[in-house]
Amino acid sequence: MRHVAIIGSGPAGYYTAEACQKQIGDAVRIDIIDRLPVPYGLIRTGVAPDHQSIKGVSRRYESTALSGNVRFVGNVTVGRDVTIAELTLLYDAVVLATGAPADRPLGIPGDDLPGVIGSAAFVGWYNGHPDFAALGPALDGPGAVVVGAGNVALDVARILAKTGEEFVGSDIVGHALDALDTARHEIITILARRGPHQIAMTPKELGELGHLSRAAPRVDPADLPPQADDAGLDPGLRKSVAHLRAFAAAHQDRPIVIDFDFFAMPVAVEGDGRVERVIVERTAIDADGRVCGTGGTYAIPAALVVSCIGYRTPPIDGVPYDHGLGRFANDEGRVGGGLYAVGWARRGPTGTIGTNRPDGFMIAEHIAADTIDASGKPGGHGLDALLGTRGVQIVTFRDWQRIEAAEIAAARTGAPREKFTAIEAMLAARGGVA
Ligand code: NAP
Repeated sequence: MRHVAIIGSGPAGYYTAEACQKQIGDAVRIDIIDRLPVPYGLIRTGVAPDHQSIKGVSRRYESTALSGNVRFVGNVTVGRDVTIAELTLLYDAVVLATGAPADRPLGIPGDDLPGVIGSAAFVGWYNGHPDFAALGPALDGPGAVVVGAGNVALDVARILAKTGEEFVGSDIVGHALDALDTARHEIITILARRGPHQIAMTPKELGELGHLSRAAPRVDPADLPPQADDAGLDPGLRKSVAHLRAFAAAHQDRPIVIDFDFFAMPVAVEGDGRVERVIVERTAIDADGRVCGTGGTYAIPAALVVSCIGYRTPPIDGVPYDHGLGRFANDEGRVGGGLYAVGWARRGPTGTIGTNRPDGFMIAEHIAADTIDASGKPGGHGLDALLGTRGVQIVTFRDWQRIEAAEIAAARTGAPREKFTAIEAMLAARGGVA
């Protein structure tokens, strides 16, 4: 028997478990450890609440979770309840599938003013992550600024722009729905430091901005390169740029404008005790494709700044870390000493949910090659015994199913669930003692 611990129950964690089952067969026992009492990581707290079809992938993870040789070990914080060193003594392989939950800082003067928040915090707030339930973002307008030209920036701008009716069928949490209903921003500015040909936005997600009931996108035609230049783009980017061209040509009259501000880089955030404006410098792209400031600046009035400029994996004591790249140091997923990294913790915050599947297979192949069948390590029994001595209450998959049933029962009309946003409430719902 080989014992595998996977830290993190998001897509990278579950795809790795599935791959270990296929690669090693019945002779493997897998524990998926998560610090939250609820599974699925970014599927639950990252994917936008109005993208329910994407969240449906959790059914696949559920079938892995329900198989006999996989356990969910929730409510266990590695580093506090058990150390990495202890896990490597208990298990033949320990896989870090911890994602990249920390926001990269903007790193400009004023970025610590109240009202400047990172996308992990803002997305966590509307998705009911317990760490961010009390965020209380400033939605009183007149403007909100979203920094970045990727899909997270699109998610944030769209969520800020939607009406309550447009969230029907979503699982946005009640506190965010209520707060967004009172939002008074009239202009949501998306700051892209490069041009339309350099966006990281995918066509389907970008196209959604053209179908909002109280908001319309605005693109300055002068920012668009000559149309003939689109021919050299890869097909996905060409489709995205086609959306931008359509936005530039359309003149939809809506109460909220989503303004694409290209070649625009925030250089400071200003305000008296809270955000009042963002100072932006016009940029140009030099001959080597690098962004450079042109010296010309202007101010955008804003109460809220959400930076959507990428994430970092927080370091863990004793695990080799690449500070430049903001993730665990690894060689194609091998960290060394029985440790592996997978998903965003391995490669950084890029790619779709499906990208984690081949990642998981690669790690399972490594584990099959690097470990032996009868090392004598105790695996989950050893973990249970250790956590028992420390008074840690494990949340099992069966417990999660009770929590999930309670969330489904509490759903408002048309919604799939109303998520618990406090760990105590989750623990109470599984029938245990909070
Ligand atoms: P991303 O795709 O890497 O985009 C980050 C954006 O931030 C880029 O436009 C980048 O510009 C900009 N940026 C970085 N540093 C900056 C700075 N200091 N100042 C101003 N702008 C800066 O990252 P993401 O949007 O966080 O998405 C992460 C991953 O999740 C991506 O693979 C994304 O596709 C995926 N995702 C997918 C979906 C979906 O499919 N529905 C939804 C959400 C996220 P430069 O290009 O100039 O560096």
